[in-house]
Amino acid sequence: MARYTEAVCRLCRRETATSKTGEKIKLFLKGDRCLSKKCAVERRGTAPGQKTQNTKTRQKISEYGRQLREKQKMRRYYGVLEAQFTNYFRVAQRVKGKTGATFLQLLERRLDNVVYRLNLGQSRAQARQLVTHRHFRLNGRTVNVPSIIVKAGDVISIAENSKKSDLILANIETAKNRRHPEWLEFNETDATAKVLALPSREQIDTPVDEQLIVEFYSR
Ligand code: SF4
Repeated sequence: MARYTEAVCRLCRRETATSKTGEKIKLFLKGDRCLSKKCAVERRGTAPGQKTQNTKTRQKISEYGRQLREKQKMRRYYGVLEAQFTNYFRVAQRVKGKTGATFLQLLERRLDNVVYRLNLGQSRAQARQLVTHRHFRLNGRTVNVPSIIVKAGDVISIAENSKKSDLILANIETAKNRRHPEWLEFNETDATAKVLALPSREQIDTPVDEQLIVEFYSR
């Protein structure tokens, strides 16, 4: 299972530097650490790379560029590599209805994202690692594949041995204190969760314009 292993703050700096409105774009790839003053976007919003260090000018961006940046932003939010990301889009294209919304819903239904949404992982990267290390069960079966797509009615629980881990215990406490999306139910007593329904577009708060991505792949 391939994954991105370079410095992730570069990705936020790239999106911020090419943002049309000049807004700071934080992808929150490091969980709560993204809220600290050390966040690279807060300290400097320039694009990564030596040449950009001293330039304050914002590049003009073409329509294709906008579509590309939106695609990259969404891919980076969910921590998915290009080939797998394209596969999700092809699957979404075969489903009746709005391709963009279906595409986003597929990414949202990934097991690592569900663990993150439940606050049982501080970031999607940590959630992915916890799944890979067999800390979670899906419908009673131990799983280690972060890309599993959950269905309505699926139950996610924590492996008994994992409940002794300090990290997992801390994450459970966090999960108890934070809100969850409406399509997920979290039971505080035994730290299990249930997928109540598939997420609608309105229930997904990832700040992306999926229509631009549909246009990108339709070129
Ligand atoms: Fe992005 Fe978080 Fe790094 Fe800030 S700290 S640049 S939000 S990954």
